[in-house]
Amino acid sequence: VDFEHCGFPEALNHNLKASGYEVPTPIQMQMIPVGLLGRDILASADTGSGKTAAFLLPVILRALFQSRAPSALVLTPTRELAIQIERQAKELMRGLPGMRTVLLVGGLPAPPQRHRLRQRVQVIIATPGRLLDIIKQSSVELGSVKIVVVDEADTMLKMGFQQQVFDILENVPHDCQTVLVSATIPASIEQLAGQLLHDPVRIVA
Ligand code: AMP
Repeated sequence: VDFEHCGFPEALNHNLKASGYEVPTPIQMQMIPVGLLGRDILASADTGSGKTAAFLLPVILRALFQSRAPSALVLTPTRELAIQIERQAKELMRGLPGMRTVLLVGGLPAPPQRHRLRQRVQVIIATPGRLLDIIKQSSVELGSVKIVVVDEADTMLKMGFQQQVFDILENVPHDCQTVLVSATIPASIEQLAGQLLHDPVRIVA
């Protein structure tokens, strides 16, 4: 199987090729169909597996057919990771109609982030602290979100973000699809998955 035969929109096929992606990695092979079905996912995948595109492709394909925005939220523990995820998202979304991203991360000024939020963005890529600040200022409305990704969940827990993640998820619809990605799945992640996921499909890279 290669990406060209997946029936993706032409612009997306072009972007995949331009990024040098021809054949899906094992995690992509497993996550993309399940993600498109709308199922919750608990994925064990480390950096280098292609996990970012594995969750971004379902995020993008689901967002393409939504009239309301934002439709996707990606939570990640650090600013550097958020920047990398946004870079990949922009590469994959080039030329796709109405697809815009916003980066909501600490350590960068908040006013431009809030300004961009007002311009109909489909995909929010955020670290927990800054997103919660923006939620508290009522500068974002998450009622249209259809899919949430919690990336590097083990690092999230180590950095003490668990309560912030719960507080953020209070603001998305209850029937939202949730994808948890973690390098390792210790008992603490199993417990988190039990709290956040509904009947998840388990995927191992
Ligand atoms: P990640 O595991 O998401 O950090 O991705 C690791 C690297 O693999 C990144 O540089 C991606 O751009 C690249 N990558 C992801 N998927 C593919 C693919 N299907 N073919 C080739 N490279 C890929």
